[in-house]
Amino acid sequence: MRILPRCKFWTPILVACLAVLIVPQSRAQVESAAGIKRFSKDQWTIVTDLPIDSEIESWPGILDQALATWCQKWSIDPAQAKSWPLVVHCIGDRKLFEQAGLLEGVPPFDDGFQQADRVFLIEQPSNYYRRHLLLHEATHWVMYHAFAGGGSPWFMEGMAEVEGTHQWINRKLSLAIIPRDPQGVPHWGRFKRLSDSIAAKGIPSLKQILYYGNDRQDRQDRYSWSWAACVFLRNHPVYSTMLQRASAAPLDYSLKLTQLFENSLADRWDWVERDWKLFVDEFDFGYQPTSNLIALEPLTKDLSDGLPKNLSVDVDSAKGWQIANLFLRTGQQVDISAEGTYVVRMQNQQAWESSPSGISYQYYRHMPMGKLIGGFVSTDTSRPLDVFAIGKQTEYVAQSDGWLLLRINEPVGKRQDNSGKLTVRCTIGSRP
Ligand SMILES: [Zn+2]
Repeated sequence: MRILPRCKFWTPILVACLAVLIVPQSRAQVESAAGIKRFSKDQWTIVTDLPIDSEIESWPGILDQALATWCQKWSIDPAQAKSWPLVVHCIGDRKLFEQAGLLEGVPPFDDGFQQADRVFLIEQPSNYYRRHLLLHEATHWVMYHAFAGGGSPWFMEGMAEVEGTHQWINRKLSLAIIPRDPQGVPHWGRFKRLSDSIAAKGIPSLKQILYYGNDRQDRQDRYSWSWAACVFLRNHPVYSTMLQRASAAPLDYSLKLTQLFENSLADRWDWVERDWKLFVDEFDFGYQPTSNLIALEPLTKDLSDGLPKNLSVDVDSAKGWQIANLFLRTGQQVDISAEGTYVVRMQNQQAWESSPSGISYQYYRHMPMGKLIGGFVSTDTSRPLDVFAIGKQTEYVAQSDGWLLLRINEPVGKRQDNSGKLTVRCTIGSRP
């Protein structure tokens, strides 16, 4: 790390101190090189060629709150964390920083970079997204100090994206959020990038993501998928424990974490990929992991146990896919019927009551909002989830061996304020 000569700062510091005395509200700023200003508060130093407006002035306070959250979340000693300095370079004109020698020893980068106790951010089109980058790079910095590394590339970038995705309202910072709508996160665009990537190349397997490298090419796609993988695995009812073990400190930057994690799930990797696809299919604004993530794996045990031919299941209108403990062989038919009423709230916060047929003047994914739908998970992992309408009654014929899932049809971000249950009856027909 390059240490800047200190002597030439004395005069500007004195001038800045006088300025502080005259205008007590303004933070001490000094011109550290042509066109570049810097100011410090506690462990934080901001270096920028951009105007130091109230947004940039708020960064030390934002970093204080972020660090306090990380200390609590990751059991870091706050006193020790306070002793780690961080210099944030916020760059409008890269040339000014090059001329000032502030980028010496820093490899080429596009948006942001962390090197020991320095982070670099390129100016972005929204305050939100620039803060996102600040928190992303600061996550790399805190992991470097607290865990001796960030872990395998997908984990390092995914964690930085998780912690970078934030809310800053009334000077209160919330980290690791899943945005409820695009308006709160201007220029963030991660869900759009995921859907564009799926349209172009399909859903990557989790294994592909776990073996991502550090190339600059397609990095935004890789960051978005790494974020999705971290949201999935850190919140999953089964896999979060394995990830916690594999990501225990000390970390490095190799594929060691990936290999440890993969080994811990080697005997059930097909199930991990199935659960991953179910997650990606629903992952969008307003996603809530606790009411949407499921583990399909226990279903395997039922295969040899002889499943019931009839069953009745309650389907919660506020939750994502729910397992109907029903295994079907290829060609087998199941008669499904449903009853009950439940509340589905629409955008205007008015309560609407729905039956299993749904509300036919509001559509989502080409089916009425609130309608009961089925999902068929094949034992053949190459087959996609088969989603079909159920409503009050339907018959479904399995095209392969697999399991039945149930939920109501509504965007994932709009389900959490629903209430009520449906009762669904399934009877397997005799037709083999
Ligand atoms: Zn990064």
